[in-house]
Amino acid sequence: MRLAETVTFGGGDLERAAYLRAQPDRLAEALVGGVVLPLWRGRVLFDAVAGGLALLPPDAPLLRDHPPEIFLGLSGGRAHFATDLSGWSPDAPAVATGGLFDSGRQTHPDLPESIAFEDLRGRMADLSPTEAELAATARGLLQWHSTHGFCAACGGASVMAQAGWQRNCPACNATHFPRTDPVVIMLVTRGNSVLLGRSPGWPEGMFSLLAGFMEPGETMEAAVRREVAEEAGVRVGAVRYLASQPWPFPASLMLGAQAEALSDEITLDPVELEAARWVNREELVEIFAERHPDIRPGRKGAIARFLMLNWLADRLE
Ligand SMILES: [Zn+2]
Repeated sequence: MRLAETVTFGGGDLERAAYLRAQPDRLAEALVGGVVLPLWRGRVLFDAVAGGLALLPPDAPLLRDHPPEIFLGLSGGRAHFATDLSGWSPDAPAVATGGLFDSGRQTHPDLPESIAFEDLRGRMADLSPTEAELAATARGLLQWHSTHGFCAACGGASVMAQAGWQRNCPACNATHFPRTDPVVIMLVTRGNSVLLGRSPGWPEGMFSLLAGFMEPGETMEAAVRREVAEEAGVRVGAVRYLASQPWPFPASLMLGAQAEALSDEITLDPVELEAARWVNREELVEIFAERHPDIRPGRKGAIARFLMLNWLADRLE
């Protein structure tokens, strides 16, 4: 698919400069003229006035007790780092709201009111490609560190290494690397129609493409066929890869595929799906225009929406 890398979280220009990860002296030098992206409990720091990420100078008051340990890479001639402020407890916690993401803004006493920690899912479609890549990388790495403090081989406490890109176990010398879990997400088509489903707990009326985690020993194509058969009872023939999207909530890589259905009768797995239905192109146009009587579109920035809009526009090649 020619436009594959125009998906949200794709097409950034971050140079990861892995050779610097093992050179703490050079990283310390690079930090002086660099910038830091702070995260707090999975939320990313955004600047409502300037728009986009709030990248702070390393001597910002907010960072005085939090030297950035994670080196993200180089962009625009500057080194970019990330740091985790999750240990901080606010006096006035932001009010969480329901829906697909938390829309609360968490401000901090060391920062102006216009700057706040926010759920990346609510802001991802507003970021430049490189900002989105920085945020996805930082969130994915920090989430991994926060849930992988112990060695999977011996159970001992592990320590961060390689500027955040590795964890080492001092007890058994095992090395551990950040995880990325592949998920297939499929545009299942049959003639003029596409198969949409909704999971229990989604906002009312929202439907999207079917998706599921790949299992060990599977190709992407086999995973697409298995998931569609399990969830909706539809048989699938030809499968082809379209585009991918990093999805750091917490650690997925979405693999977008087009799949040709060989049957159209739907048999639901009620554990996975609350409803599924075929939707033709004309209806899909109404859904995206928010004029459909009972289906709402999925979130902006997600690869499902990207694939459906490109299918409608005949731009999957
Ligand atoms: Zn170990």
